Amino acid sequence: MKTLENKVALVTGASRGIGAAIASELAKNGAAVVVNYAGGKAAADETVAAIVAAGGKAIAIQGDVSKTEDMTHLFDEAIAAFGKIDILVNNAGIMITKLIKDTTDEDYTRQFDINVKGTFNTLREAATKLANNGSVINLSSTTTRLMFPTYATYVATKGAVEQLTRVFAKEVGAKGINVNSISPGPTNTELFTTGKPQEVMDRLASLSAFNRLGEPQDIANVVVFLASDAAKWISGQNIGLNGAVA
Ligand code: NDP
Repeated sequence: MKTLENKVALVTGASRGIGAAIASELAKNGAAVVVNYAGGKAAADETVAAIVAAGGKAIAIQGDVSKTEDMTHLFDEAIAAFGKIDILVNNAGIMITKLIKDTTDEDYTRQFDINVKGTFNTLREAATKLANNGSVINLSSTTTRLMFPTYATYVATKGAVEQLTRVFAKEVGAKGINVNSISPGPTNTELFTTGKPQEVMDRLASLSAFNRLGEPQDIANVVVFLASDAAKWISGQNIGLNGAVA
């Protein structure tokens, strides 16, 4: 029997990048998967088609994580489709990198609305709608440990995600739900590579003990473990997935 047989997983921002790899790996391990996306319908449909072609179960549901009503709809539609949700992965996120002096009110609000309010919105839904004995995995970032200039608002949002994680773990523990965050290091996706010259990417890759960037699959493998019954005693933790970057 596969590790996640009979489980249902909801992954936000799963149309591409790390989220798409997480959705595929969860499905490969037996979970039925809801692939959430905001604007990338074609990419989300491709993620679903690849899962189905590999013999898995998946559907795509649109919803902007920063909108309360979209997240209520997302949870209700997912439960209508698959009967329950056991695993929530809060992966959707954006990264705006600017010096504080150049950061506009709009930059600040957008970053917090998606990364923090988005995570808050799904946790609030999960508090009453996630199945007993479920798992929540939230995406933070190793940048919270690195203090690079221009990352202030981004790491502020991810610090908030880690704190939401710790408190939510205490709030839902009685239902057997474990709640953790993971902090990938530099990982080879559009969010990371967009606008970066090759030399910057090489320098960031060299921060790892393995002298390479992380791949979405490196992250997905750990999410499957954290969502499995074997990881139940891990809760309220933040785990670095970064090849010894920090
Ligand atoms: P990508 O930019 O490659 O993908 C982002 C995903 O989030 C897309 O599927 C996008 O979907 C979705 N998304 C964006 N905004 C929303 C929204 N408002 N509502 C729902 N979905 C949304 O990012 P990554 O895969 O690199 O990052 C995934 C997570 O990992 C993020 O939380 C990021 O902060 C974190 N992370 C990434 C690292 C990296 O180096 N790549 C390192 C550490 C952490 P759509 O296109 O449909 O809007």
